Amino acid sequence: MKIAFIGLGNMGGPMARNLAAAGHSVTGFDTAAPMPEGVAPAASAAEAAREAEVVLTMLPNGQILRAVAAEVTPVMPKGAVLCDCSTVDVESAREVARQAEAAGLGALDAPVSGGVGGAAAGTLTFMVGGSAESFAKVLPLFEVMGQKAVHCGDAGAGQAAKICNNMILGVTMIATCEAFALADKLGLDRQKMFDVVSTSSGYSWTMNAYCPAPGVGPKSPADNDYRPGFASELMLKDLRLSQQAAEAADADTPMGRLAADLYESFVEREDGRGRDFSAMLPRFERRGRG
Ligand code: NAD
Repeated sequence: MKIAFIGLGNMGGPMARNLAAAGHSVTGFDTAAPMPEGVAPAASAAEAAREAEVVLTMLPNGQILRAVAAEVTPVMPKGAVLCDCSTVDVESAREVARQAEAAGLGALDAPVSGGVGGAAAGTLTFMVGGSAESFAKVLPLFEVMGQKAVHCGDAGAGQAAKICNNMILGVTMIATCEAFALADKLGLDRQKMFDVVSTSSGYSWTMNAYCPAPGVGPKSPADNDYRPGFASELMLKDLRLSQQAAEAADADTPMGRLAADLYESFVEREDGRGRDFSAMLPRFERRGRG
């Protein structure tokens, strides 16, 4: 397939490389990042998109996505699909889809989970919003870049799934970390705490698969001095997007709001920036109630 890939950073770079390695014809554009192996460089996003059957984007935020979409949709061939894999606000995803459809194109929002490791290994999960027809067209590419693609519904449904999942993840990580810090103060051994909780009703992905306590449970960023992994500032980005969506939809999300406030404080006023989001545990360890 003829593919344009716009935004070749930590995630987009290895995703584009995997598509090229699978035999697709990939043309790339990025304002700063180097071209991945096998990807032909274009002078602009529009030039990359001009002959593409599918245009993939992997960009920092909704504002940049809107600007790139405004540039590429007028030049894309009719019937081509614009598929954004970035994590952006639901409103930008829907607006870009409206714009693409008005230009006779298909549109998908297809944010991912799996991080940089999943992008490199081709094991991402895609959560996809848009028409069934566009989903079917891009599915072979999702299968190269990932191991699972779920068609979640109409435009915006992929972003909705992503921010709801990550709101649960942020809240659960905080709950797991504060429980470990409480266990410490009660003199409960961390390994015993893990043995009980991981097989009891408090179990969760953050406890069982990504335990924030070093030396306990399977290997995780806690065992690597909390180097990410999934950086706290990326968790903060996703929690802010979930709060933005909750405000727009008039949804009451008190735990999500508190998680956003805690990660904001951790990243912007404490030492959380650049550390894995599970580094909330040493943060709680140092604190008392005051
Ligand atoms: P990144 O900053 O490494 O990559 C973004 C790239 O976009 C950069 O190379 C930048 O130069 C390029 N770019 C910016 N403006 C551009 C423009 N106008 N035209 C072309 N290129 C432009 O970020 P990343 O880690 O690759 O993340 C990309 C997206 O994926 C984000 O929305 C992020 O939230 C999401 N995401 C990241 C992870 C992760 O673990 N890194 C996991 C899941 C989702």
